[in-house]
Amino acid sequence: MNSVSLRQFYRDHTQKLQPLYPKQEAESLVLWLLDHFLGIKRKDILSDVKMSSATQEFDAAFQKLSQGIPVQYILKSAPFYGRTFKVGTGVLIPRRETEELVHLILTRHQGNCSVLDIGTGSGCIPITLALEMPESEVYAMDVSGIALAIARENASDLKARVKFFQVDVLEEDLPVKGLDIVVSNPPYVKESEKKAMHPNVLQHEPHLALFVPDEDPLLFYRRISEIAPFSLTPGGYLYFEINETLGKETKDLLENLGYEEVTIYGDLNGKDRFVSGRWCP
Ligand code: GLN
Repeated sequence: MNSVSLRQFYRDHTQKLQPLYPKQEAESLVLWLLDHFLGIKRKDILSDVKMSSATQEFDAAFQKLSQGIPVQYILKSAPFYGRTFKVGTGVLIPRRETEELVHLILTRHQGNCSVLDIGTGSGCIPITLALEMPESEVYAMDVSGIALAIARENASDLKARVKFFQVDVLEEDLPVKGLDIVVSNPPYVKESEKKAMHPNVLQHEPHLALFVPDEDPLLFYRRISEIAPFSLTPGGYLYFEINETLGKETKDLLENLGYEEVTIYGDLNGKDRFVSGRWCP
């Protein structure tokens, strides 16, 4: 690329992404790559410096972006609660809502808790909890070996003390007892909701981490709520991220199983997104 204005470069690249992404998202994706590879910030675009070349790395990454590959998989990293986590194909990209789940737990618990995260994926939940509550004992499990390898790498890179287990929650017992908190963001998108999802998510993210059958969307919630009492200390808490359409159903499930103080929390968008309950035998 011969010397062109950065504004023009930004506009052209944003436009090329627009069949795939809405304008604002396309803009922030181009900016994400510009910052990552060239250290270019929004203010540089505003002041319209001339740029003489984009790097090959930028071009290769942009190529992938225009094929619909999520930017976090291209850069192999995703931000979560102020830190950077490795991600890769086979592990769900950490979501904004899940930062709110972690935040909810941190506002309600301090000090030395013992916590188990079920279906940990990249490990963003337990690693953040372990770093924000350094006195705590934190455990995490997943059925996927690929996810666990990435989660272990994240724990080691971020110097978080988390113990990981490969366990299939639908088939096996929980690996730890005496827990103060069990937390999970299990698959909760109904198969029938697939068509409303961005093709990016559908084509690139692990379906194992996302989808549940329409006939039984609370499959994971029921199983986890049923077995958590064998691992929770009396008075211990269960925290779930949920499908926004299933707040009442999840609350009813927990209440029918005997959990107390069952509460639905909204996310930043005002949607039912979390449910907590307390096990007081
Ligand atoms: N919130 C995620 C999404 O809509 C789903 C996460 C999950 O199923 N646990 O892509």
